[in-house]
Amino acid sequence: MFYQSEGIVLDQADLGENDKIATIFTRQEGLVRAVVKGAQRPKSKLRGLTQPLTHGLFQLYRGRSLERVTQVSMRNGFPGIIQDYEKMIYARYLVELLTNVLPEKERNRALFDLFLAVLGCLEQKEDPWVVVRWAELGILKLAGFAPSFSRCVSCGNGVQESLQASPVYFSLRGGGALCSECTSQVRPYGELIQVSPGTLRTLELLSTAAASAKPSPCPNITARGQVRAEINEVSRKYIAFVLEKRLKSAPLVESIEDDNSSK
Ligand SMILES: [Zn+2]
Repeated sequence: MFYQSEGIVLDQADLGENDKIATIFTRQEGLVRAVVKGAQRPKSKLRGLTQPLTHGLFQLYRGRSLERVTQVSMRNGFPGIIQDYEKMIYARYLVELLTNVLPEKERNRALFDLFLAVLGCLEQKEDPWVVVRWAELGILKLAGFAPSFSRCVSCGNGVQESLQASPVYFSLRGGGALCSECTSQVRPYGELIQVSPGTLRTLELLSTAAASAKPSPCPNITARGQVRAEINEVSRKYIAFVLEKRLKSAPLVESIEDDNSSK
């Protein structure tokens, strides 16, 4: 059976001697793994049309075990990402995050639309940092792991009120901010990360921007110095906590971010 879907190629690997297998995030069917026949041959037309980050309209044949790509009408290849070493590393990292939170063949149109917007912003923006933090929050949110930055995850009170008085903490196990009162009482929340008021506000802004992804302008938020470093710490530790592992591409992303922040 043939079907058509808008999709984004996330990954491509050799299959046997002649073929390739592409992981495609489709708007209609979610993550699909599809064989691209003959794509290892230099003259193959489909070879160039199924490179990672290709966005287009895919015609697929649903086989007994795997799908097969039969035609592609390309819309965008995101050359501004592919030709930029750092942006490409970020894109690979976001692909890895996405494929870890989204099960195969589970349709998630909101997440598809967000991911497409993320690639557009990653290509446009000079400083990819904010795009990546915004993308992470959006992906986590639409996959059901949204952290809370405005309300205390223990008592539900607004945490912004307690910002002036005392430090606020992000609880990994609670998945969000803890107010100062709860921090002094609650021990079983496990590892806490102390954050500044500016960090919490920026995370809240990023999270709100990620919630209204369609049709989203690129986030116009920035952070430097301590706030940026704290946001990095929260996002790295929270994602590792949620996934119960470190993503393979995380160390490279982190080394770029730490280099950039020390410049
Ligand atoms: Zn509380």
